[in-house]
Amino acid sequence: MEDLTRDAVLKAIADFDDRGCDDFFRHYRIQPSRSYFIRHQGQEYDMKAITRVARGLVSGEKTIHASLGHSVEVKRRLERDDLDLKVVHHKKTYDRASREGRRFWTKQKKAERDPRLAKEAMRLNRCRHGGWIKCEACGFTDKERSMFDAHHLSPLVLGQRDSLVSDLAVLCPTCHRWAHSKAGDRLHPLPVKQIRRGRRRAKKRKRR
Ligand SMILES: [Zn+2]
Ligand SMILES: [Zn+2]
Repeated sequence: MEDLTRDAVLKAIADFDDRGCDDFFRHYRIQPSRSYFIRHQGQEYDMKAITRVARGLVSGEKTIHASLGHSVEVKRRLERDDLDLKVVHHKKTYDRASREGRRFWTKQKKAERDPRLAKEAMRLNRCRHGGWIKCEACGFTDKERSMFDAHHLSPLVLGQRDSLVSDLAVLCPTCHRWAHSKAGDRLHPLPVKQIRRGRRRAKKRKRR
């Protein structure tokens, strides 16, 4: 598998995103597998399927169906410095009953925040939208403040600072999750514009 480049793998991933899961497997006539996944920008992609298509991009369609060898070897190859990808392994789904609900104390280290900033961000937002609060990314509106989060555009984990109301964005819970989960790393949440674009695209995909 020396015929593999990071660029080709990223192209295969983009292709997977474009076609969507079902169409991707149908188009390349590949069987999905369920244990090894490439983790990329908060998403997981079938490792072998992506690798097959990436190899096809480099060495021609025919190689897509050639044997890849053992999963562990493929993982090792993908994680080598020149490709620099992250592969995760999921064991079979857990299907036994688990005892839950016991109460216990935990200790947590948290960053200091001033609740007055969030409150003011909500107030200004409501003021601008005739008494309703509006998600700055997707436009969802509601009168309940509890339906929204005040999100720090630059995350507090980066360190101490003097925050202004303008350093916060008012987001609905889904857009807030999107900001953090779809970003490459936790220090750089997606900017509001990108959340908006991403959610719009996701909506279009669903309609198709
Ligand atoms: Zn939203
Ligand atoms: Zn946030």
